[in-house]
Amino acid sequence: MADTPRVVLIALDGFPLRSFRPAITPNLWRLGQAGGYCPEGGRSGLPSTTYPGFASLLTGLSSGATGVRTTARRPGAVPGWAGTDRTTTPTIVHLAGAAGLRAAVVTGDHELQKVLALDELERAWPPRAIVPAGTELDAHGYPTNAAVRGHALEAAADASLDLLFVQFNETDTVGHDSGPSAPATEACVRAADAIVGEIVQAIEPDWDRTVVIVTSDHDMARRLPLPSIDPTQGFDVAGLVDDWIADGCAAWVRLARGVDPHLAINRLSALEGVEGWRWREPATLLLLAAPGRVFASPSIPLAGIHGSAGTARTLAVVGGGHPAVSNIGRAIEERSPRLQDWAPTIACLLGIDLPLAEGLNMLEGCEATCSG
Ligand SMILES: [Zn+2]
Repeated sequence: MADTPRVVLIALDGFPLRSFRPAITPNLWRLGQAGGYCPEGGRSGLPSTTYPGFASLLTGLSSGATGVRTTARRPGAVPGWAGTDRTTTPTIVHLAGAAGLRAAVVTGDHELQKVLALDELERAWPPRAIVPAGTELDAHGYPTNAAVRGHALEAAADASLDLLFVQFNETDTVGHDSGPSAPATEACVRAADAIVGEIVQAIEPDWDRTVVIVTSDHDMARRLPLPSIDPTQGFDVAGLVDDWIADGCAAWVRLARGVDPHLAINRLSALEGVEGWRWREPATLLLLAAPGRVFASPSIPLAGIHGSAGTARTLAVVGGGHPAVSNIGRAIEERSPRLQDWAPTIACLLGIDLPLAEGLNMLEGCEATCSG
């Protein structure tokens, strides 16, 4: 069936949005010029970190609803009061499979597969989230973009796949270690853009029925040489916090029993380096750091950080020859797409039901371009 739509969703983890320029990312730029892109970028939820972001991207739900609330892990907290480490919400990839379509995932972050239960899929690389021996790994232990490239190209060239999700992780690793504007990060971004160009080439024979979406999970900011924030330290906050877990420039905090939440918010948000907060449920708060600041944790990135409102921006580019591309392009040029808006849009394209989605179908009103 030559006219059934095909969706290729590419995600570049931690892509520094400032690098989306013709001189650095010529392939992404060309794709966006011909299709569409959001000049100020898309939006992620908070914390602006990897697992909550991808959970929203692939389920169409806010991070509160997926249960994936942080990328950090610590038994008791995650999984526990600060969220789950494996969501039970089916992703668009699961639902495509259930609808009889052929779907596949290729992920640089193999742990991401476990969080979204992608490791149970038939067509996933690395299979069952186990990185094959001999795979080249980056400084944080994830397959490099070069190692993922071949698997991504092979899947992109497979015209029998209705939905392909490819995630490249290395831009996040290098951004953390070197900083968002460092030469090493720019080199990594250029190399990732070159791979995107190769993927686009691999799709070429199938261009007319393909929608290519390129996104990221969050932005990356420079870490400033300032002390990390510990919301349990200091006279004003003594006794307020029962447990907490840092996620870069954000931190989930569980208030101690009997503490007046208004007093706690006043005191915690007045802490040096804290810029804001979000109220999630009784006794649970999300604290957000000021630009350049991070919360204390056993492993704080050296140079690049994310998690707060300042890094809640994503790449948002669409291309391809399918007639829906121009509609999506127009939608994202007019309004920043949220991560949870992509899954309902893809669902519309592929004719899949996504009953729980909170995101907006960007093709609403132009259903003629959808399969459903
Ligand atoms: Zn990261």
